[in-house]
Amino acid sequence: MKEPKTLQEAIVYFSDPDRAFEFACKLRWPDGKVFCPRCGSEKSYFIKTRKLWLCRGCDKQFTLKVNSIFEDSPLGLDKWMIAFWMLVNCKNGVSSMEIHRTLGITQKSAWFMLQRLRLALQEKSFVKLGGPGSEVEVDETYIGGKARNMHRSKRERLSRDGGLQGGHDKAVVMGMLEREGQVRARVIPNRKDQHIRPTIKEFIDPGTILMTDEFDAYNRLGGEYVHKMVNHLERYVDGTIHTNGIENFWSLLKRGLGGTYISVEPFHLFRYVDEQAFRFNTRKDEDGTKISDSARFAEAMSRIDGHRLTYSQLTGKDQSPRHEATGTGNTEIPF
Ligand SMILES: [Zn+2]
Repeated sequence: MKEPKTLQEAIVYFSDPDRAFEFACKLRWPDGKVFCPRCGSEKSYFIKTRKLWLCRGCDKQFTLKVNSIFEDSPLGLDKWMIAFWMLVNCKNGVSSMEIHRTLGITQKSAWFMLQRLRLALQEKSFVKLGGPGSEVEVDETYIGGKARNMHRSKRERLSRDGGLQGGHDKAVVMGMLEREGQVRARVIPNRKDQHIRPTIKEFIDPGTILMTDEFDAYNRLGGEYVHKMVNHLERYVDGTIHTNGIENFWSLLKRGLGGTYISVEPFHLFRYVDEQAFRFNTRKDEDGTKISDSARFAEAMSRIDGHRLTYSQLTGKDQSPRHEATGTGNTEIPF
């Protein structure tokens, strides 16, 4: 059977447990060398009937799911793979409600599943954007807090609880887009220098030409970067000073958040930002051709390794690494 190209083909293809298993193995260990996720040993014995390996290094058993985002999940690989396919290939994302309907699992399981999958999509590359002579657009945007789009009862409740005062219901996302390249985006607590500057230094190489709007914080970056500012009242003759690229990313992000996800807690916002950044960064190949759905899915599947996320981490009982950036616990941000 041919490898799937569409969602419909993927559903048929992965409904066979053996095929789903082989497919996932190939993506997890692309060179065919299966190694133990515990001790790293390449010497193991495969027990076909139980789909598990006996490691000769540490004498323990391991499965495909060990030390991956699938670990401890009672859900079958077929379900995981279909959910992943849908998440990375639907332009505006996919809601837990849709996954619940498509896969016949509870909405709560679907939600947990999607959050784990988003974790795998988090950018782990330490390669910085830019470099001498290349151009990176930098911008921030506010997410949430549109009271007028909210149901009346919710608006009244939030207003009563003080949730709509002083802009506290909005989150700030900072985005950096290399022209003809990749995007990085991060939720930051506010637009103060102390958050803007370190974020730029963390993600962008010195010597890069930064394209920003007139926001003050960018004027205090020091001499490490070349800085060009957009003047919204004047148009530049050569047309290169603009932030249209990153603004395009914001509109994709907001379309997903507003259309598909209805409401996202500030605590989890960065996961949705990571998800959109992944889709954005896998829209084209290096030679500029469009990436197919199956290639994007394969790229996503190759990242399942080494990511674990427990339910308590997800619900905030345990500190997750980037949660400090996304504000307080349980208030919903209305979109
Ligand atoms: Zn081992």
